[in-house]
Amino acid sequence: MSCLIGQDVKRAAALIRDGGVVAFATETVYGLGAHAFDPSAVARVFEVKGRPRFDPLIVHVASTNEARRLATDFPRAARQLAEAFWPGPITLILPKTDNIPDLVTAGLSTVALRVPAHPLARQLLVEAGVPIAAPSANPFGEVSPTTAEHVRLQLGDRIDYILDGGPCNVGLESTVVHVANEPPTLLRPGGVTQEEIERIIGSLRLPHADDAGDDRPQTSPGMLSRHYAPHTPLQILNNISEITFSTMVGVMALQPFAGMERFTSVEVLSQSGNLAEAASQFYAALRRLDSQGLQQIVATPFPETGLGRALNDRLQRAARRA
Ligand code: AMP
Ligand code: MG
Repeated sequence: MSCLIGQDVKRAAALIRDGGVVAFATETVYGLGAHAFDPSAVARVFEVKGRPRFDPLIVHVASTNEARRLATDFPRAARQLAEAFWPGPITLILPKTDNIPDLVTAGLSTVALRVPAHPLARQLLVEAGVPIAAPSANPFGEVSPTTAEHVRLQLGDRIDYILDGGPCNVGLESTVVHVANEPPTLLRPGGVTQEEIERIIGSLRLPHADDAGDDRPQTSPGMLSRHYAPHTPLQILNNISEITFSTMVGVMALQPFAGMERFTSVEVLSQSGNLAEAASQFYAALRRLDSQGLQQIVATPFPETGLGRALNDRLQRAARRA
């Protein structure tokens, strides 16, 4: 019996080529990958995750050239963003070629493409020689995995292998930008910030800014309001002093704050308030809080700038009740 977790890229690649389902490290979160051109392998990904079939997957490729081969058009904004941020935590939505199965894109005429930066993910893509469709490697709606052990705990009995690349250093999902139409639309904030993107291509359209647009892309189908959620009720509080301490309450905060010793459990994401460090710690901290039998988790919002926007997005979805 070979191990479920390891660093055997050749084995992971062979499993992918044979229609297996393999979790693998990326710089954002761990992905649950399958051969993107093999509809039955992709179907297993949906099944293992309990992911609804209307929620399309991101197709991971080894290079921008490969991404171009999967899109019927690669407009200027796509070229600029690929040049600036690939390999890296940004996903581009482009018109798809026919060889991508409908299951991957949930029947949409567009495909989500990304070139990941993590060295093991890159080796896997090169060795497999095929594009890999992969959502995050967690049961649908739950907290995303940022270590191989997180994946094992949540999906270990249902998948073929976990390619262990250590803890994810970005720690939040990729930014999703729809570049098939003008102006490009930010569908999901993530590892590359809105500010960084706008420095390259100018103003992005934000999905909720106006709903009047006709053929404008809707919010990503997968951006369901409740997502990334712990089992313990999570509440966002602007002012932590509003809390009464009659119950077992845990807290997650960007930085240390006065009175934090009154909480049963405390997760400070960055001593210095660094948002990149906070992002890399976010999901693991949420998991630790969720595993302690607390009655409530409270969290303070992040500054609405840079990676703080993506952190607030995940926090709001995690806090929403079903
Ligand atoms: P996940 O795989 O969990 O990181 O989620 C991938 C995200 O990309 C989801 O929010 C999807 O809805 C979104 N996505 C994937 N393909 C498309 C597409 N063709 N158009 C719009 N959004 C997409
Ligand atoms: Mg996900």
